[in-house]
Amino acid sequence: MGIALWREQLQRGEVSARELTDHHLARIEAVDPSVHAFLEVTSARARADADRIDAARAAGDPLPPLAGVPLAIKDNLCTKGVRTTCSSRMLEGFVPPYESTVTDRLWRAGAVLLGKTNLDEFAMGSSTETSAFGPSRNPWDLERVPGGSSGGSAAAVAAGECVASLGSDTGGSIRQPAAFCGVVGLKPTYGRVSRWGLVAFASSLDQVGPFTTSVADAAELLQVMAGEDPRDATCLKAPVPDYAAALQQPLEGVRVGLIRECFDQPGLDPQVKASVLAAAEQLRILGCDLVEVSCPRFNDGIATYYVIAPSEASANLARYDGVKYGYRAAADLSADSLAVMTARSRAEGFGDEVQRRILIGTYALSAGYVDAFYRKAQQVRTLIRRDFDHAFTTVDVLLSPTSPGTAFRFGAHTEDPLAMYLADLLTIPANLAGLPAISLPCGFDDQGLPIGLQLIAGVLEEPKLLQVAHHYEQAAQVMASRPQAALVA
Ligand code: GLN
Repeated sequence: MGIALWREQLQRGEVSARELTDHHLARIEAVDPSVHAFLEVTSARARADADRIDAARAAGDPLPPLAGVPLAIKDNLCTKGVRTTCSSRMLEGFVPPYESTVTDRLWRAGAVLLGKTNLDEFAMGSSTETSAFGPSRNPWDLERVPGGSSGGSAAAVAAGECVASLGSDTGGSIRQPAAFCGVVGLKPTYGRVSRWGLVAFASSLDQVGPFTTSVADAAELLQVMAGEDPRDATCLKAPVPDYAAALQQPLEGVRVGLIRECFDQPGLDPQVKASVLAAAEQLRILGCDLVEVSCPRFNDGIATYYVIAPSEASANLARYDGVKYGYRAAADLSADSLAVMTARSRAEGFGDEVQRRILIGTYALSAGYVDAFYRKAQQVRTLIRRDFDHAFTTVDVLLSPTSPGTAFRFGAHTEDPLAMYLADLLTIPANLAGLPAISLPCGFDDQGLPIGLQLIAGVLEEPKLLQVAHHYEQAAQVMASRPQAALVA
């Protein structure tokens, strides 16, 4: 049931907020032992929040837009009084004394917190396998990864454990797990949503966005999440348009560009390619003009990202020294120096992937190499952005697969970091250019696993993105043709 319909039924008293919350808590109890989407379930708080909504309705108070909507939140968004771990030993047991701006807005809009979801440690990964607390599983096939880093948030929505959830996307961490789990995932324009209270990974790339079962629900959440925040200097002051209204705009004449470089990838699964091209054809039938465009620098995205993101991460993660907060290794302070204690705390508190990123980033920023690596990467980033600028002079939205393949098996890429990094080949360029992008289901492979379609739009063109995605979703009805999958609601 979509959020708009739920709101009407709640208003009419046909269903209570408590019933909706209890339904999801029961679902979590039934399936989360096998899915492991949640690191913590906040049942008592959820029931109390839902009861407050029901009391407000009974008293005839006006209901806020997300009244009673049960949400799961990625565990790298600070929630006051609720543990926030980033799936890291480093922050195990950390209880933030403040609330992130974006979650604060959701609670003010009446949403209910069901719990915090699993992720790759500090959001570094594409499978949740780097979580210090064990991976999440894909509800379509429990032997496969849900994608990452926001794998828990995507799996929770796919398994019907919540109505919607939040993730963060630095190089694809919303869109890739959305594709793997057969749900909608939206990464807004860089700066559209406040990052205040989001634990920083790579500050020039990080953006928070929703996972939902429909494009209309993504529009509902973005409406509440978006907008200026004096606490985040990179948050845009641009007014927030009416996203629900944008969904209804007709599609005739919208120009959709197929990015040639995406379809030429040697590693692209032919089933994914066929499914995404069929979706493009469907858009043509709906009235869009299809155009082939070229973004020659698209393939340089990975190399650029894996210099910039680790560089920013190495600076952001320097604060975890075992002194101010975070994990502290046992040390004999009379014998060991502070440096030894710090080094030991970081070696024990961070997992391998996080340490690898810190090392890469520190190297790329070091005095002798900063020009060769970091500065060069920034220059290529500008060229990638220009490619997009050029493409948007002839088209309204760009279309590609979200991921070169469908959900892979556990362990498939854990021995080879480079193979794992390649999973983000198609999602990274939008982060480097700061553009909004969405992934939505467009079909299934012969294993019955979902395939994701990615649409990318220009800066602050979320209305166009949501409009095209919504029309496609309504016409294609992909989920109606889904193969049977035991766990998927
Ligand atoms: N998988 C990519 C990485 O490991 C992207 C992660 C993200 O978007 N948070 O960096």
